[in-house]
Amino acid sequence: MKIPYVDLSYKHKSKKKLISIFEKVLDKGQFVGGEEIDLFEKKIAKLCGANYAVALNSGTDALTLALHLLGVRRGDEVITPPNSFIASTAVIVHLGAKPVFVDVLSDQSIDPKKIQNAITKKTKVIMPVHLSGRMSQMDKIMSIAKKNNIAVVEDAAQSVGSKYKNKMSGSYGDFGCFSAHPLKNLNALGDSGYLTTNSFKYYKKIKSLSNHGMENRNIVKNFGYVSRMDNLQAAFLNYKLKNLNKVIEQRRKNALIYMKGLDRRFVFFNNETKDEFNTYHTFVVQVNSRNKLKKYLLDKGIGTSIHYPVPIHLQPASKFLGYKKGDFKNTETQSQKILTLPVNESLSVDQIKYICRCINHFYVNK
Ligand SMILES: *Cc1c(COP(=O)(O)O)cnc(C)c1O
Repeated sequence: MKIPYVDLSYKHKSKKKLISIFEKVLDKGQFVGGEEIDLFEKKIAKLCGANYAVALNSGTDALTLALHLLGVRRGDEVITPPNSFIASTAVIVHLGAKPVFVDVLSDQSIDPKKIQNAITKKTKVIMPVHLSGRMSQMDKIMSIAKKNNIAVVEDAAQSVGSKYKNKMSGSYGDFGCFSAHPLKNLNALGDSGYLTTNSFKYYKKIKSLSNHGMENRNIVKNFGYVSRMDNLQAAFLNYKLKNLNKVIEQRRKNALIYMKGLDRRFVFFNNETKDEFNTYHTFVVQVNSRNKLKKYLLDKGIGTSIHYPVPIHLQPASKFLGYKKGDFKNTETQSQKILTLPVNESLSVDQIKYICRCINHFYVNK
């Protein structure tokens, strides 16, 4: 059996439909701004349980605009976990602020108990990351933020449709920042992203900030960025949105097959608690002899990945921040043990059972 970790071709079985969407946009000649954008913003805000959404060019720019608008500048600090995709930290650095890392729990989400100690007079924002489609403990994080009068930006890039305590990802904080990169559960045909907020004032300001800071055609009150989503990508996303619930349901089914099939004596993974509704952007297990298992699975035709093998505080780019090995024990230990198994919606039950058998066999015969 051959099971590649990434196979985007299955997503384009609807080739004819996508081409007809392209033709429609081409015929209308609306490329920047347009009715598909307006429609997408309405639909995605509703889906995310937020009052407003802004369609943007990437998840990374969604984070940048949110932090910029909240006034994050040189000398400020932003609290975030060190085990995310590199973009979460890069946006903080680009604004001249300092990322202040806080270690994670066994389920890879930021440890709320460690946040208070990391707060200083300079802390402007807490930025939890809902890694793998599992949300951070947002109720606790929001109450710490409120007590200290600090804003919250959710890096929700991997968690469209996820819930924690029955509240949607992206609806807790001042902003929810999402990616629609081709590898995310709701994906465009290229780079795209979006941002949610419950504040009308923030919504208007982000709209302007993403469009050169223009208030109207002629007036700019604050210099902005060019971070708009293409109308064409919005058209693709409006089509793909119709299928999102099915995608999530299928991924949840796949995760359940893993949870039943993997031998817990050898393979660690967190159950879904009653507070969680996880969307399984990735399915991550923690194992000993991770690298050997990865190679063994590859020999069996099974592609896997690691999210992420080098914690951000130990990246060469982070050197100037002065962190060192040993600063974040859980993140560092997990980076040696985590392995991401294929969980996408096109997999068959047999394929997942085969992966479980191979993994269990590797440890039983070791
Ligand atoms: C994908 C991702 C981003 C960046 O999103 P892009 O759309 O690729 O810019 C940021 N944070 C996390 C956690 C991500 O997974």
